[in-house]
Amino acid sequence: MIDTQSEILLVDADAVRASRIILSLRRLGFLKITHVDKREEAFQALCQTDLMLVLIDIQSEEIRGLDILTELREHGNLDWHMPLIAIADDASAEQKARAIEGGALDCLSLPSDIILLKARIQTLSARRRHVTAKRSFLQNYDYTTGLPNRYNFIKIMERLMQTYKIEKRNDQGFFVILFRFLKASEICELLGIGGGSDFINHKMEDLLQYGFRKRVIARTGDFHFATMIEASEKVDLDQLIKIWRDQLNAPIQIGDHVISSPVSIGVAFATGRERRPESVLQNAVLAATQPGARSSYALYERKKHHLAVRRVGLEAELDKAIEAEAFHLVYQPIVDVKSRKMIGAEALMRWKHPEMGLISPAEFIPLAEENGHILPLGYWALHKVMAEIEVWADEYQKGQPFPYIAVNLSGQQCHDQRLLRDIQDFLDRTNLPPNVLRIELTETALIDRPERVAALLQDLKQMDIKIALDDFGTGYSSLSYLHQFQFDVLKVDQSFVREIPVNIKNQKIVRSMITLASDLNMSILAEGVEGEAEYQYIRTMGCHYAQGYLFSKPIEASEMARMIDKIRFPFGRNAIKWHSGQKESQVAPLEIYKHEIIV
Ligand code: C2E
Ligand code: CA
Ligand code: CA
Repeated sequence: MIDTQSEILLVDADAVRASRIILSLRRLGFLKITHVDKREEAFQALCQTDLMLVLIDIQSEEIRGLDILTELREHGNLDWHMPLIAIADDASAEQKARAIEGGALDCLSLPSDIILLKARIQTLSARRRHVTAKRSFLQNYDYTTGLPNRYNFIKIMERLMQTYKIEKRNDQGFFVILFRFLKASEICELLGIGGGSDFINHKMEDLLQYGFRKRVIARTGDFHFATMIEASEKVDLDQLIKIWRDQLNAPIQIGDHVISSPVSIGVAFATGRERRPESVLQNAVLAATQPGARSSYALYERKKHHLAVRRVGLEAELDKAIEAEAFHLVYQPIVDVKSRKMIGAEALMRWKHPEMGLISPAEFIPLAEENGHILPLGYWALHKVMAEIEVWADEYQKGQPFPYIAVNLSGQQCHDQRLLRDIQDFLDRTNLPPNVLRIELTETALIDRPERVAALLQDLKQMDIKIALDDFGTGYSSLSYLHQFQFDVLKVDQSFVREIPVNIKNQKIVRSMITLASDLNMSILAEGVEGEAEYQYIRTMGCHYAQGYLFSKPIEASEMARMIDKIRFPFGRNAIKWHSGQKESQVAPLEIYKHEIIV
């Protein structure tokens, strides 16, 4: 089939020949033929982009067709893909060759070669149809999965909103549900780009089994998929999303690899009043980055919009920040309750953002845990602590007093063999006793594959590394964990300590925690001790250790180094020998850190 609706440009100074060519083309069915017979007009006419074919006279002096082509190309005004056919009566072989070098498909003598021209036009039409179809497919569908793409999905949303408006059902609406595959970059790294596509295809096939045959599911981003549910369907959204989430979270086998990539799910609601469907989809993406999006789903809330935007921004900057060394550690002293002396410190991360200033780990650690950045970040902290201990313990002598440094580990690090290896390497290299380092884990770290965490704790115990259970009392099933895992220290969460002098319930809870800890042979550490009254309470109750602003806020590494030096060398680095006969008054005064911690 010939595409007779597209335009043909004829550049020919010979008026008689031109009218014969036009007549022949009309007989073939072409109606849109533009004829120009002047050189200047030809320049302008050739700059159009949607021509189906250009027939250009290369023989006449008035036109000088080949020069026009060269000149236009030099200025970038003529595409090499433009289909061109040179016209020359009885052209020599040399003329034909020059025409083809100039980008022409052929050089014909017209109208005598009209049959050849027809054949050329037929192949051009076929190619054009194919390209147009492909372009329209790619504009609306994702090439890999064949699913509607973002552009198409937005058009579908727009049509639905339009229907609501027309039917005056402005208050009715639909949910846009966005699935975001986490760990996407890791999958691509492991499987290569092609493997990443295989993974997506597998997952989509699985979903099609689960109720998507009748529903639109679109690929709205590299690792984002979206669907919609009309409120009038009255489906149980929670139940449906749960089924989809379980299906998407299930591990699958690709080649030799078993891949599991959890999804986070964001939901946004749109009504017929909405003006921009793009914003609704974007809000669902934002919701998918919010707390809860991974464990169940997060619903977009307008009043939390700016928070959500901040989260997305921070998430995108996390990996760059690791490379740019924007993180550092501060240390918060831990004291012995009876003596108020520092016996250890907890390492806490800080992110110094160039524009936003200091960002709390309470904000960025959960983000890093969700998007897979926690492993590099967690290892950075562990290695930094080990490097700092190595410097602080320089020329360490066996038996010398030295405070331990506790590092917070995230759940994902508990499933990684590298952890034990790195700690063992550190101990072997430095020859330091294992009690210089401690690990803190929260209950959430234990939930995922508890048998693996139990094995890790066992291995750490064998290495004589002590482990504290952090934020105790805030999880769901604290007691059962205590029996299942072996901890050395229980850290009572700040929320119980904070109001202890006035809150009888908290007093009871802490008291029973202390009994429990002593039954299980664990020490107990109270976090977040801010006031003298709280301190007196936990002291009388029998807590062993404490941490909080009363004793010290987290301090910079340089300050910690000074404090450790005081512990190790109370009389100065050079006063190595100390006679027991020395009188108290001759002893160098100890540095008293805020609120009387004696080090
Ligand atoms: P966490 O492990 O419970 O750490 C104690 C948090 O309480 C710290 O907040 C500390 O500055 C704060 N704090 C200590 N004493 C007091 C007090 O008397 N009053 C009050 N109001 N707060 C007190 P920070 O440094 O913002 O850390 C927040 C959380 O971020 C940590 O809670 C921990 O879960 C996480 N985190 C920090 N660094 C790391 C790390 O290197 N790795 C991992 N996985 N998590 C970390
Ligand atoms: Ca901690
Ligand atoms: Ca804590």
